[in-house]
Amino acid sequence: MSERRHPRLAVWKFASCDGCQLSLLDCEDELLTLASVIEIANFPEASRAVAPGPYDLSLVEGSITTEHDAERIRMVRAQSRHLVTIGACATAGGIQTLKNFADVNAFIAAVYASPQYIATLSTSTPISAHVPVDYELQGCPVNKVQLIEVISAFLAGRKPSIAAHSVCVECKQHGTVCVMVQGMPCLGPVTHAGCGAICPSFRRGCYGCYGPMETPNTTALAREWQALGAAPRDISRAFRTFYAAAEPFRKESVVHADITHDDITNGDQDDPG
Ligand code: SF4
Ligand code: SF4
Ligand code: SF4
Repeated sequence: MSERRHPRLAVWKFASCDGCQLSLLDCEDELLTLASVIEIANFPEASRAVAPGPYDLSLVEGSITTEHDAERIRMVRAQSRHLVTIGACATAGGIQTLKNFADVNAFIAAVYASPQYIATLSTSTPISAHVPVDYELQGCPVNKVQLIEVISAFLAGRKPSIAAHSVCVECKQHGTVCVMVQGMPCLGPVTHAGCGAICPSFRRGCYGCYGPMETPNTTALAREWQALGAAPRDISRAFRTFYAAAEPFRKESVVHADITHDDITNGDQDDPG
């Protein structure tokens, strides 16, 4: 009688820093259990042994920033029964999307001594802009507990149980005193939960590294930041960090990039839609 085949896992890297893959390696004890129920068939960060597809589950880290990667992600999708993106880069384009707001050639010329060797697209885009994605796990980097939950859920054929609420709920769950009431701007009210509200627990504001929560009211939060004395430039920069191209954060960043102190004084800073 033939042995039952383990589900096959593949982990892929596109434009990224490898931090989300390291979250998977950081699972330590859980990885041993995981490895006993799945076949880690393709994970170059962990092993040089790469088995060919097809794969039951592909985890994809990183954004699409070159023509080559745009082609490669289609190959990955074709070999994958389920495809899950992990992290800010893969789900929203990551910090690489800062180039979407500027002239990429000016960046290249400023950074590289021989810019003629650089082949890049003018934008960074999430994986979902190129191929269908089955689930997007947020975070920069992703939380290892949430990552294990997503892997377990897909292997068991169920929906992952990941809370969609904001970091504020995690502050309340941990009994952390709100930093906003102490006069400190915080992106927690519009940021997806998952980190356990680490920054407020150290008396500093959240800066949004888990990206937008499910229904973020960025306009209301920006007004609160203004009331605390934040300048438009600061508000725009806060939204334009890890998740600069995620639509709610992108829109709010553009609103405040375009207004002046006079506009605020006149109450003329509504979102143009
Ligand atoms: S989401 Fe953050 S930690 Fe993950 S690969 Fe991108 S930059 Fe690195
Ligand atoms: S500290 Fe930030 S995340 Fe925590 S409750 Fe206050 S606003 Fe929300
Ligand atoms: S920036 Fe916000 S989401 Fe990121 S770790 Fe700090 S509190 Fe959590």
